[in-house]
Amino acid sequence: MPITKLDNEKFSQLCANCEQVRDLPLSELTTSEDDSDTAPLRVPVCPKCGAFELLIPTQPDAQPHPVEGSYGHLHQLLVDELRDRRRPAAVARGKGKSKPPLSNLFPAGLVLAKPSEFRRVERKPETND
Ligand SMILES: [Zn+2]
Repeated sequence: MPITKLDNEKFSQLCANCEQVRDLPLSELTTSEDDSDTAPLRVPVCPKCGAFELLIPTQPDAQPHPVEGSYGHLHQLLVDELRDRRRPAAVARGKGKSKPPLSNLFPAGLVLAKPSEFRRVERKPETND
């Protein structure tokens, strides 16, 4: 059930089970009882088919994603961005850790095609070299 779009107030999710796309306010994302910075985010149950998803943010000891610009990499960035927006305290604690600007990999905004329609994005060249 991937995330397909993210904006200031809401996000869009494609249900992997029934393929329904729905828009949800960010406030509908909740964390599990273990309210740590790396806790999974719970997406409300799909109203059409009842499927349920957890989004797992990048864990602190994770290696960099092996294929930059791949579907999996971009989806992980969206999940982390959702986590950051839902949990500003976590962001404050992580201050100092540099996060590359998402616009490099999302030149058209925070949107992601369905896995079946996805084409890898080539990263824009860094401007500082
Ligand atoms: Zn569904």
